[in-house]
Amino acid sequence: MAPMEVYIDGKFLPKAEAKVSVFDHGFLYGDGIFEGIRLYAGNVFRLDEHLERLEMSATAICLSLPWSRQAISDIVCESCRRNNLADGYIRLVISRGTGDLGLSPKNCPAPSIVCIADKISLYPEALYTQGMRIITSPTRRISPAALPPMIKSLNYLNNILAKIEAQQHGFHECLMLNEQGFVAECTGDNVFLVHKGRLLTPAAHAGALIGITRQVSMEIARELGLEVVETNLTRYDVWNADECFLTGTAAEVIPVIEVDARVIGSGKPGPVTGRILEVFRRKAAAEGTRIR
Ligand code: PMP
Repeated sequence: MAPMEVYIDGKFLPKAEAKVSVFDHGFLYGDGIFEGIRLYAGNVFRLDEHLERLEMSATAICLSLPWSRQAISDIVCESCRRNNLADGYIRLVISRGTGDLGLSPKNCPAPSIVCIADKISLYPEALYTQGMRIITSPTRRISPAALPPMIKSLNYLNNILAKIEAQQHGFHECLMLNEQGFVAECTGDNVFLVHKGRLLTPAAHAGALIGITRQVSMEIARELGLEVVETNLTRYDVWNADECFLTGTAAEVIPVIEVDARVIGSGKPGPVTGRILEVFRRKAAAEGTRIR
């Protein structure tokens, strides 16, 4: 099989040679933004939404993108073609670029763009059929006043600390609360509850990324006739929900059957979660930006 080729600033390089400078502020300070995107059967899922979120993240960190949306879209599609992918996971990273050891972005003349199109490593299918158990992390989400959660930035240490704690206790994922103690999201996924026929999820200002899968799930729920409400949620609300599920580009829609040792609903993946996952997979298989 041909070795993977990674796009860096205008060139495709073999994986072993795909390197960025140690003076890149993405490396030195986490000064940059990224997207995680899925390729399904030769179609990039919701590419425009991902690129819009990327542009909004760029605006928020005062990084002016020298590439048009079409140019970035072409880089993504070409990365998939070069690597002969039909299904995969695309990591698009834009950093402030190479500078010096100071914090100031003024010394970084040009941002860098990297695109990695890889095979996807999925959660085991059993988690989808049997559901996932999670706990609440003692690590709180960074305050939106310190760093808006809508920015998909290269600063993931907060989420990584929570992920480490989850893994130390034998769990794949964990719930993260905001400073006020309301549910924000999980380390790499958004969170949803089904309660008395309504779909509930924290608003972005509670500390959630505006996930693309979150938006699609809300769209599907409305199509299924459910009322969708963005609201403050406590751990009590989670424990007493009829159903709970997580959404993310890699995870898609994953049922949660236990939180903090409390069984959620029937203790099995719920019917609404099942319907949303089914419609999600149907949309993912049918839609998207063709790579050739
Ligand atoms: N929250 C966080 C912190 C994330 O990193 C992600 C992406 N992995 C999500 C939520 C889900 O967003 P999306 O559906 O766009 O992948």
